[in-house]
Amino acid sequence: MPETTATPPRAAFGVGLMSGGLDSTLAAAILKEAGARVVGLNFSTGFCMTDHRRAIGRQGEDPRRLRNEALRAASDIDVEIRVIDVAEEYFEMVKAPKHGYGSKANPCIDCRIFMLERARQVMLDEGADFVFTGEVLGQRPFSQHMASLRLIEKETGLAGRLLRPLSAQYMPPTIPEKEGLIDRGRLLSIRGRSRRPQAELARRLGVVDYPQPSGGCCYLADENFARKFMDKLSHPAAEGKITRDEIILLKVGRHFRLGPATKVIVGRDEGENAFLERFAEGRWELRAAEHVGPVTIVEGDAGEEVLIEAARIAARYGDGRAESSVRIALKRGEERRLLDVPPALDAEIDSRRL
Ligand code: SF4
Repeated sequence: MPETTATPPRAAFGVGLMSGGLDSTLAAAILKEAGARVVGLNFSTGFCMTDHRRAIGRQGEDPRRLRNEALRAASDIDVEIRVIDVAEEYFEMVKAPKHGYGSKANPCIDCRIFMLERARQVMLDEGADFVFTGEVLGQRPFSQHMASLRLIEKETGLAGRLLRPLSAQYMPPTIPEKEGLIDRGRLLSIRGRSRRPQAELARRLGVVDYPQPSGGCCYLADENFARKFMDKLSHPAAEGKITRDEIILLKVGRHFRLGPATKVIVGRDEGENAFLERFAEGRWELRAAEHVGPVTIVEGDAGEEVLIEAARIAARYGDGRAESSVRIALKRGEERRLLDVPPALDAEIDSRRL
């Protein structure tokens, strides 16, 4: 790393996106090392797998899989962090992203624009000099190649104020660099998909505890979630609206589509059963009356044929699956019913499974 040659006129102040992943942690650490005051922003979108794991509350879950990585990372490098709930607005964006989806249901360009617009607002409100991110040029094929980075900068109104410390040497100097607030010589020239430069940098900066990049925390980039999400988009309720509850329910259970406006969701364990019960209001909730079995809920139109099919699916996933008939208890509000049904055969329901 080159030596600093000039004393900045005052300490620079940057706010930036911090997910808790290694890149954004290193970006914040590099800026701090360069003498800047750094505040991390962590936007809670409603699509974070870790947040969902906490909501499910499974017994025996590894505590490392439940921690908020952004809080942990900020604490490790001793910078201020704010967690900001943006779920309502983010949900509206996710349903119709201007720049479309990636290979799953991930609207990465719109997502970055969404978050950077909010970061820009914090920058303006608090008199910060720039917004920073941990983006690395060429690391991801979709959202982080140069054209995308420029597009994002332009659409967010952050031209000249968006600092990517890890790849800054490949980009034109930003305003705080030109003003001498940030010494460009301290910014880096990492590019490409190898993680080795970041691992070496982490060692040098003493950053030892960080999540592995594979998998990520975003449901929208998850193949199974994306399949159910796209099915939901193409089957809106009669009034054409998709509710947040419907999207939240995509995160749990086995899903079966029974008709254009009808789905059945079956819990896979006690955590999911409890979660589904919390969302059962206004829906039929089914459970085996005389066997151990999952909670099953019916979403959308629920005529007699649908209830029988839902009951058969519920029976299939309970301990009575080998019986010729299983008694299923149904409830919706004050309504109560019992149905005796043969468990569904896999051959009957495989094609309905999402
Ligand atoms: S993977 Fe998810 S959180 Fe990350 S940029 Fe894409 S949509 Fe946003």
